[in-house]
Amino acid sequence: MERFRVQPGEAVDLSGVDPGDTGGFPPDKAMGRARTAELNRRLEELQELLYAQGRHKLLVVLQAPDTGGKDGVIRHVFDGTNPQGVKVASFKKPTSEELSRDYLWRVHARTPGTGDITIFNRSHYEDVLVVRVHGLVPEERWARRYDHINSFERLLFDEGTTIVKFFLHISKEEQARRLQARIDDPTKRWKFRLGDLDERKRWDDYQDAYQEMLARTSTVHAPWYVVPADRKWFRNLLVATVLVETLERLGMSYPEPDEDLSGVIIE
Ligand code: AMP
Ligand code: MG
Repeated sequence: MERFRVQPGEAVDLSGVDPGDTGGFPPDKAMGRARTAELNRRLEELQELLYAQGRHKLLVVLQAPDTGGKDGVIRHVFDGTNPQGVKVASFKKPTSEELSRDYLWRVHARTPGTGDITIFNRSHYEDVLVVRVHGLVPEERWARRYDHINSFERLLFDEGTTIVKFFLHISKEEQARRLQARIDDPTKRWKFRLGDLDERKRWDDYQDAYQEMLARTSTVHAPWYVVPADRKWFRNLLVATVLVETLERLGMSYPEPDEDLSGVIIE
């Protein structure tokens, strides 16, 4: 799974990453799904441990083009985890109140507390993506943000937050299929906005913005993973694998009780 991680300072060429890649392993969808189910059970245990121990906090950042599968990852990979310790923060178009502060203000407020896993469904990275592609602020402003973001994530890390970031990489053809499916299926239509087509027209500009984001903000303490995401089962498998490995590395254990409970019998 290491090869999907962006090395710090490494140039990224997304046109050279196959969105349909399945890593050569596992051989098929059925085995991939079975493995994801095992990882999901392990993730449930690790999340329980994180919550019980109350020492660590995990921030998971999800970025993707429209239909890239952020919602699917949240639903499938975190299925069965305890909602008391897993929070989702979705970042939409900023309100006027948010816009009147710096762009990290609303983001910092949603970072995980001790014992929590917080999933960012979109994030501060929109401030170097949609903002850049649409020129919502002048280039001299967004260009400085990569450094701000690295410093911000360094701050979170220094103060005890584990960070892992996923870019869900889909092909333009797969996006066409998924957008069409949203229009055709009355139960999915609510997810579709005509504005999504305008974003799709700017596909190449977004790819450039994603590449620069990945190259400039993948660090040792807050790495990016480029997840081939045309196949949902492989997308889920890769994200689940990275999350389990990341949490295993924390070496967590259940806390010892404050009092000696040996021999205590409840009558
Ligand atoms: P969705 O995730 O489909 O509900 O859409 C949320 C929308 O909010 C997307 O079109 C994002 O590009 C937009 N958005 C999120 N963050 C920002 C931001 N900082 N500035 C402008 N638009 C944003
Ligand atoms: Mg949308």
